[in-house]
Amino acid sequence: MKKIRQPIIAVLGHVDHGKTTLLDRIRRTNVAGKEAGGITQHIGATEVPIETVKQLAGPLIKLWKGEIKLPGLLFIDTPGHEAFTSLRARGGSLADLAVLIVDVNEGFQPQTIESIEILRKNRTPFIVAANKIDRIKGWKVEEDEPFLVNIKKQDQRAQQELETKLWELIGKFYEMGFNANRFDRVQDFTRELAIIPISAKYGIGVPELLVLIAGLSQKYLEEKLKIEVEGPARGTILEVREELGLGTTIDVIIYDGTLRKDDTIVVGGKDKAIVTKIRALLKPKPLDEIRDPRFRFDQVDEVAAAAGIKIAAPGLEEALAGSPVIAARSEEEVERAKAEILGQIQSVVISTGKVGVIVKADTLGSLEALSKELQEKSIPIRKADVGNISKTDVMEALSVKDEEPKYGVVLGFNVKVNEDAAEVAKAKGVPIFTGNIIYKLIEDYEAWVKAEEEKKK
Ligand code: GDP
Repeated sequence: MKKIRQPIIAVLGHVDHGKTTLLDRIRRTNVAGKEAGGITQHIGATEVPIETVKQLAGPLIKLWKGEIKLPGLLFIDTPGHEAFTSLRARGGSLADLAVLIVDVNEGFQPQTIESIEILRKNRTPFIVAANKIDRIKGWKVEEDEPFLVNIKKQDQRAQQELETKLWELIGKFYEMGFNANRFDRVQDFTRELAIIPISAKYGIGVPELLVLIAGLSQKYLEEKLKIEVEGPARGTILEVREELGLGTTIDVIIYDGTLRKDDTIVVGGKDKAIVTKIRALLKPKPLDEIRDPRFRFDQVDEVAAAAGIKIAAPGLEEALAGSPVIAARSEEEVERAKAEILGQIQSVVISTGKVGVIVKADTLGSLEALSKELQEKSIPIRKADVGNISKTDVMEALSVKDEEPKYGVVLGFNVKVNEDAAEVAKAKGVPIFTGNIIYKLIEDYEAWVKAEEEKKK
């Protein structure tokens, strides 16, 4: 039976422009507060049932002409570029749609432009949230109010100021080849990019944002979202995590089919495909129901796409974040899944030659993105691997350094440097470059190479 699944949505934009605040607002919770209490309950994605969208939107739902048949929306909890570089599905982005957030007072910033480039490259449809409208002088704030209601309460001067800022944004988008407009003036969403003024902090405009995401997804992504619900599940690993009383678990977004408690799954591991049988499918309990930290999750029998789920199973210690999860219900399916996953790992976890840089990244997807960039720039790679930077990595870089100093380095994307690795690197003079923006990381490395060459002259 075919069914329309929830669209998977990512939020991206420049640092501090409000991605986390918006996701929190949508979650109706405060991640920071929770983490202070030692409990992080999100498992990669937040579901917003369509009833919630309708309730929030109220009469605004009319903005969307026609009935909304989607079951809801699924927001990826990881804000930023990572959602695109790390989280992939069948070679494309895991996200079906994106929200690009821009601080309306700051306008375009480097990561705004980078985000747009990434969205373009992935051909991901998106809408723009022009955030922090409450910062406009004299702005009257009301929690969770639709923008179209809120705007009527503002005096002429404040309205005018917002209008000016929006036109500045529209101009910037125009320079990048987009025909953008304020959402309520958009005639045709296939040709115009909708800008929704919001305040993530107070929830203003969030009703419109949710309605438009739902409407656009249904109208333009219906074919992609139509899936065989009963089919074996496919997903992407967001995180590999130790959990009290459960051992190593994986947080996964399921984007196709249905995952059942008794399914066998195949996932990507270091140099191999891991075949294991699910021990439990887990969803976080509401916070106020958690009495004992060992019982933070509810077990479920099955979960249908699209959804976030935690999987407990034996043998997941070596599982790789970013790798596919494929459910297999027969020997034949297991073999096919193994071949597919092995193919993917081998194309990413590479060792190209003796002399080259050492590359480490947090997920298979980010490793692939970083390696590709390096290869495009003709920077040779000795080893590309998922995980934190270890002493072994530094020792390998050191052996390269003797042959070709400029390649005797370690580049790490979104990973930590182990203590002993940092010590050895310092003692032996092996440079380590880390960061969470790919182009910036490569830029830093290139700047260092240049400076070294200058020194020699
Ligand atoms: P991120 O780096 O894009 O995830 O940005 P954050 O969500 O962490 O927001 C950065 C800062 O801007 C925080 O101090 C937020 O409280 C603040 N902020 C975010 N959205 C709004 C908004 O709508 N209005 C106001 N006044 N502040 C906001």
